[in-house]
Amino acid sequence: MTDPSTGRAGALARDAADPLAEFGDRFARAERDGHDLIYLDGNSLGRLPLATAERITRVIRDEWGSGLIGSWDHWIGLPAQAGDLLGEHLLGAAPGQLAVCDSTTVNLYKLACAALDARPGRTVIVTDDDNFPTDRYVLQGIAAQRGCELRMIHTGMDAGLDEVTVAAAVGDDTAVVSLSHVAYRSAALADMAAITDLVHESGALMLWDLCHSAGSVPVQLDACGADLAVGCTYKYLNAGPGAPAFLYVRRELQDQLRQPIWGWLGQRDLFEMGPDYDPVPGIERFTTGTPQVAGIVAVQEGARLLAEAGIDRLRDKGIALTEYLLTLADPWLMPLGCSLASPRDPARRGSHVTLHHPRARQICQALAARRVIIDYRSPSRLRFGLAPITTRFTDVWDAVDETRQIMEDMGLPG
Ligand SMILES: *Cc1c(COP(=O)(O)O)cnc(C)c1O
Repeated sequence: MTDPSTGRAGALARDAADPLAEFGDRFARAERDGHDLIYLDGNSLGRLPLATAERITRVIRDEWGSGLIGSWDHWIGLPAQAGDLLGEHLLGAAPGQLAVCDSTTVNLYKLACAALDARPGRTVIVTDDDNFPTDRYVLQGIAAQRGCELRMIHTGMDAGLDEVTVAAAVGDDTAVVSLSHVAYRSAALADMAAITDLVHESGALMLWDLCHSAGSVPVQLDACGADLAVGCTYKYLNAGPGAPAFLYVRRELQDQLRQPIWGWLGQRDLFEMGPDYDPVPGIERFTTGTPQVAGIVAVQEGARLLAEAGIDRLRDKGIALTEYLLTLADPWLMPLGCSLASPRDPARRGSHVTLHHPRARQICQALAARRVIIDYRSPSRLRFGLAPITTRFTDVWDAVDETRQIMEDMGLPG
């Protein structure tokens, strides 16, 4: 059954030639029963960088424990500093346009409301039916609260956004278009520049969700002319559970936009404690309350590791890993009843691969019992997340090999 060109020795050779291989040792090992986990879920919760564990310990023990309130002198600048770090190395944004704060859900709410208010007379929000649930729900909520129309375009679940359909849905009634850059289920990668352009032609604002792109594919927010963006930090950025998200507001728009949560951290003279809200110029006006210090320093450590690896090298490895998975899955899993539920062209795909199988849920559970951690995604899909900084080619080989054995044991194709 084992093809010599794809045998495990081939995977070992690929690991030996991988310029990013050394980064694996800079993350905590995850074991079960004395064996390393094969962890292909870094796009749901990235692994723990060793530097992060040390930094958080220092922040808690020294800066909080000993520095106490005096540490706010430097903590207060963290949301914008961490944002600039992401902008410089991973998101293609000049300083002063990103902040790390709140959750993706809350940031999406803030920026979508701000966009709507900046386009008076336009009452339509456009998104697609394959967008991540929280995005659709937040936009539904805004439409219900404000009496706007949420125009839901249809996107093929496996093929991803179709620019022609987006173009047909936006018009002079549209205030804001909100879409995901990399689809959470299929990994379909949208053409950010082209879609942003066509949205601008209609006079609407473009709001991108970068949850599955940040840290896995190069993003050029400034060069694409994107207006607004949000994304989480616990996936490919490895900042840990509940780490705060980021938001981006293009510099020229910052003074025109007002977000709906008028918190004191967005206020001009924070400690004047004045009677009325007067938002500070700049990106901090899009923050709300006290920054989540421990989470933000974890974002910095995660971003530094990825910056050191380099986003272009990470992208190259992401493509090599996903292509390698398909090289194995085509002869081994497709004959057992799997079908590809991601774009075939690596240029149209992020860093995960999704396979459809009617018994995907059971296969996923059986894999977990054998220490192979992937995601089940409804309907009937196996999602293999190949975080480029931590995933080895041998992990891919082992995971596909285990999947094949499990499916054969189940008597598939049946
Ligand atoms: C993971 C993810 C989110 C998560 O939002 P939270 O507020 O962090 O729970 C939002 N959007 C997309 C596209 C995601 O993949």
